[in-house]
Amino acid sequence: MSENTPVVSVVVPIFNEEPNIRPLIERLTAALESSGRSYEILAVDDGSSDRSVEILREFRARDSRLRIIRLSRNFGQSPALFAGFANVRGQIVATIDADLQNPPEELPKLIAKIEEGYDFVIGWRQRRQDSVLRKLPSLLLNALVRRLTKAGFRDIGCSLKVFRREVTDRLAQFNHRSRYLPAEVAWLGVRTCEVEVAHSERAAGTSKYGVLRLFRTAFDLVTSITSAPLQFIGLVGWLFAIGGFALGARVVYIRIVDGDINQMGSVIAVLLFLQGVHLISMGLICEYISRIYIEVQNRPYYIIKDIIE
Ligand code: UDP
Ligand code: MG
Repeated sequence: MSENTPVVSVVVPIFNEEPNIRPLIERLTAALESSGRSYEILAVDDGSSDRSVEILREFRARDSRLRIIRLSRNFGQSPALFAGFANVRGQIVATIDADLQNPPEELPKLIAKIEEGYDFVIGWRQRRQDSVLRKLPSLLLNALVRRLTKAGFRDIGCSLKVFRREVTDRLAQFNHRSRYLPAEVAWLGVRTCEVEVAHSERAAGTSKYGVLRLFRTAFDLVTSITSAPLQFIGLVGWLFAIGGFALGARVVYIRIVDGDINQMGSVIAVLLFLQGVHLISMGLICEYISRIYIEVQNRPYYIIKDIIE
């Protein structure tokens, strides 16, 4: 194949990874070279303020299989990946972190799975080298997302992923902002598989995810998959309203039968009922908002697997 149409495109998001770039490119190149498939590396600079881009340029001067995409500022890991997807030339698209937590040597294993016929292959980190504070939330989030998507990925946070090109092309057409690849891929309903991969500590530099950003990301992920929390509002509203109504009915009944006036009871009944009505109306508004949200995602209405004729 010519240099312009490699078999494999590797997309690497880079945000201030100066000390890691040299070893990354060297190990990645060696791993891809030995796998015997033609390739390109797409380094997506996500607004780095250190010397990352300069070092990338030095490599680029020696090897044109390295392409550099520079974003105008820091957009985040997921937008950086999608910027890469929009520019890949290969038929197989891989993603990997720049900090060498995912050993590049594992890539050929995943690529082979695509060649076996899978559409999406995700790593499953063995003996993950992160702090407990990172692993525990992952555990909960993985369990939650597995329930929500029914795709059964055990490690959605693993950055080592390989896609058939059609999959990234499809994903690139979607039109919404919080895109979490395993969730989107699960939605597509393509053939997926997991491969056990090794994991290392960050080679140098510090993680770009603090506690707040992790929390934000997790929240984003869940709300991008499901609008169930919105429906919960309406449900609570109904409980309040019914509770208030029942209490009110009791107060009236006691007033008629026994002649007692229960002032406290009346006040609580009215409060509960009104709060319930509020929540129900809010739930209704939320329902419309969630529909708008689904529409703007611009996902196809259906995806045909194949037509047998
Ligand atoms: N990254 C990025 N933009 C960001 C944050 C991170 O491109 O805003 C890149 C980062 O350079 C690395 C990858 O995403 O290649 C994963 O980031 P990091 O290693 O900090 O995440 P962690 O391993 O701590 O989850
Ligand atoms: Mg990392």
